[in-house]
Amino acid sequence: MNGNKIPIISTTKLEKVKNCNASNAKPEPRVNSGTLTRWGILNDAIGDWLNNDAPEETAIKKAESEHFGSFDDLQKRILSDMFSDFRVLYPKRKAEIDIDFPSKTVFKEINGEEHGMSAYFQYQVSDKNTIENIKLKIGRPDINEIDRAIYSADKLENETFYAGAVANTELIEIEDIENHQTIIDDYFDIYEDFLENPNKTTPGSHCLSKCGRPAVCGEFPVIGDEKINTRYRGITVSKTNIRDVEKCERKASWNFQYSIPRDKEDSFSGDFGITFHNVAQTMLVNNNNRNDEGEKERLASLIENEDDDTQKKIFKKYEELLEKLKGYENLDITLSEYPVGFTPITEGLIANKDLTVKEGRVATSFIGKADLLGRLDGVPIVIELKTGKKHPGDLTEAELYALGVSKRLKAKEVIVLHIYVNEDKDEANERRFGEDEFISIEKKFESFAEKIASWNPNDALSPSYEVGDWCNYCEFQETCAEFR
Ligand code: SF4
Ligand code: SF4
Repeated sequence: MNGNKIPIISTTKLEKVKNCNASNAKPEPRVNSGTLTRWGILNDAIGDWLNNDAPEETAIKKAESEHFGSFDDLQKRILSDMFSDFRVLYPKRKAEIDIDFPSKTVFKEINGEEHGMSAYFQYQVSDKNTIENIKLKIGRPDINEIDRAIYSADKLENETFYAGAVANTELIEIEDIENHQTIIDDYFDIYEDFLENPNKTTPGSHCLSKCGRPAVCGEFPVIGDEKINTRYRGITVSKTNIRDVEKCERKASWNFQYSIPRDKEDSFSGDFGITFHNVAQTMLVNNNNRNDEGEKERLASLIENEDDDTQKKIFKKYEELLEKLKGYENLDITLSEYPVGFTPITEGLIANKDLTVKEGRVATSFIGKADLLGRLDGVPIVIELKTGKKHPGDLTEAELYALGVSKRLKAKEVIVLHIYVNEDKDEANERRFGEDEFISIEKKFESFAEKIASWNPNDALSPSYEVGDWCNYCEFQETCAEFR
């Protein structure tokens, strides 16, 4: 039914396109991500094991030695643990197993041509009477709406869908959705918009987490005029990651390059800083009357659901913020939480599909989400609101914003203003950057990029570690001590 010529888009790609059409445009540089690479390899090992009739211990050993050998000891251990968790989750039994990207597909005619949308799962296990389809996740076994809708639309009578997380020991049945056709129609609308405007960029938080194209989409301009193609490796580095690179490469790389599981996941504590940022951004964007009396009422209505103490604290901090903005009369703030950055290209290491590593060109995109963005007397300005302590890394952050904005807007001058509304009552810090500074910032970030590009994508132990005060706040303390 699904002829080769019918264009098919996967729901994984559509979930990205939902945020930004250009995230699925071409070309996409190669992205060597720790989690994705390990995930693919684990899948291969599971496939081999499922299809191996040898005694259990022999089949496990063979799968591990054939697939996990290219990694360092730490990643090998992570893979072995995940593999063993899976064998508890789904003990082997006699049945026919399809591990070759089984999927369900729905179709729609668009402009006279048939198009398909596919929801993939990992394994299809069939015997005489039943078919079991298993969708496996690394984290929680939650399945997105469009996958559930497609499974519901295309399900046979003897077929059951299950979701499992590798670290859990239970498979959960995926229930049908009644309004599946409405959801499928909505996603075909998203797809049609993508077909009409494939290169439309919509920058947001997703640029940092869900897209492999920051180096080529034009939002985070390349330094120099080198053209990037699919042989290049693309890496995305956030402003927090850069602070870590300056101190301990291992900590930075375990977070953004190798995705090493943290010793303990952060427990979420009601974060005043996030609430204050959200409120301040809503109050200040596109508002030329920030000091009007009526603004107090607007603020009060924004925070009416917060408890009394939080409301008082927000009022006090917001007053402090307005006080610090006095003197900035011709300030127009137009955007908030907006990603800004740029992309140096350097020599570095690239992993091939077969996990061999070779030298090549690496495009490293440095991206920070600016709290507020606008113009002061016509000059681009980034404003960062800080409720915590002043940090030496604030300078690097300001440099990242300044160069990013100057590249994107072709501006000769950029202002970065850090406003501290913290317990220490620190003074605001206004930095002005011009062309001389841009040259030295380029050099500084090129040297970060060279360092990052030199890490072996398969070897999480290749970046160096540096023990210091910062270890007290490190999420990898136990694992790090074990692998020194
Ligand atoms: S980096 Fe952001 S703006 Fe660029 S293509 Fe990806 S999601 Fe879109
Ligand atoms: S514990 Fe210290 S040395 Fe180890 S990764 Fe963390 S910051 Fe680096």
